[in-house]
Amino acid sequence: MERLRPRALRDLQLRRLRKTVRYAAERVPLYKRRLKAAKVRPEDVRSLEDVARLPFTTKDDLRDAYPYGVLAVPMREIREFHASSGTTGKPTVVAYTDHDLDVWRRLMARSYAAAGARPGDLVQNAYGYGLFTGGLGFHYGAQAFGCSVWPLSGGNTRRQLLFLKDMRPTVLACTPSYALYLAEEARANGYAPRKDFHLRLGMFGAEPWSEEARRKIEDGLGLRARDCYGLSELYGPGVAMECEEQAGLHIWSDEFLAEVVDPHSGEAVDEGEAGELVFTMLTREAMPLLRFRTRDLSALATDGCACGRHHPRLTRIRGRSDDMLIIGGVNVFPSQIEHVLLNVEGVGEWYEIVVDRDILDRLFVRAEVDPTFHASPEFDPGQLQQTIAEELRAVLSIWARVELVKPGSLPRSEGKAKRVVDLRKSLG
Ligand SMILES: [Zn+2]
Repeated sequence: MERLRPRALRDLQLRRLRKTVRYAAERVPLYKRRLKAAKVRPEDVRSLEDVARLPFTTKDDLRDAYPYGVLAVPMREIREFHASSGTTGKPTVVAYTDHDLDVWRRLMARSYAAAGARPGDLVQNAYGYGLFTGGLGFHYGAQAFGCSVWPLSGGNTRRQLLFLKDMRPTVLACTPSYALYLAEEARANGYAPRKDFHLRLGMFGAEPWSEEARRKIEDGLGLRARDCYGLSELYGPGVAMECEEQAGLHIWSDEFLAEVVDPHSGEAVDEGEAGELVFTMLTREAMPLLRFRTRDLSALATDGCACGRHHPRLTRIRGRSDDMLIIGGVNVFPSQIEHVLLNVEGVGEWYEIVVDRDILDRLFVRAEVDPTFHASPEFDPGQLQQTIAEELRAVLSIWARVELVKPGSLPRSEGKAKRVVDLRKSLG
């Protein structure tokens, strides 16, 4: 599958597309309605170009179907669930049958291979385990590929550094912002990564990052850093992976039919132009998705890659197509941050959120300590900072730099408090 010739790949995609459209029309009421409204019957799909006649699916559609409305199989055939944090407070549910888990595992194993991992590698997996798909996705893939895994999950940075030294992992899997954070903390804690660590490869994804970030992570941790791309709605990680040529990320197109459309009109953009990525899942059982709009902006390269794979490549993800506060590829609502701060004991009610971009987006949260707590003997600034950072990570899936300030030191305002400062906007 990994090295199918273009013609064979297209033939396979068309066979699978026809089958999945019929499957969705028969099993999912949403698609039955939408296809009927679009006046498309499954047998009308005769070429890959006909995908453009199918209705789009949006994240809102999945939210509206909360919790189980888009399942195409009876509950007893579901083996696993994951969920992504919703903006409305309710999670978006994703479900997997045995078949889906098997596909996901193989796509991830293939991603390890493309990135340059080898069977026998020891993987330190610092993606979050749990509802987030990153942890288990990298876990399953490592095992399927013949690696062993230390399932550290995210957080507890001191332990991560200890394991990097003592357990001698050769592959690190985590978000690029956390890799950068680990590199900084390693230095701050007296480690010499090139000497103390045995890392050869890093597999970093779940947020957009730059070539400068890549260089900094590679220098800081002494490894080759590769980019991976996925979305929880599309299994999770394992949709596309950067190969050793570093000429874009190969989309595993036997499972995902990719399109790039103008985010406003929904029309296809010209070949090679940037636009919103849209994916049709070609063999998904639990919840087939037709033309799923990712809101991620990228372009597609279809010329051959020197690695020998013909799967088309994504140029790097450039951000999201809507106007939310987007930090490192994650949609963040200030109310989520406020909610976390208000629930940590010892934090006062004044805070400030600053988003900046040096080589990648950074979130800074400045919070006042509660005056009573500040005066109490229990007050331990380091501990409080760490608690806040880990709580924010759990809710937002990104790491924030937390700074505690004395009670009364943040600017007060008489009207609506200006709590969010987005320094990136001044950069244009
Ligand atoms: Zn390649």
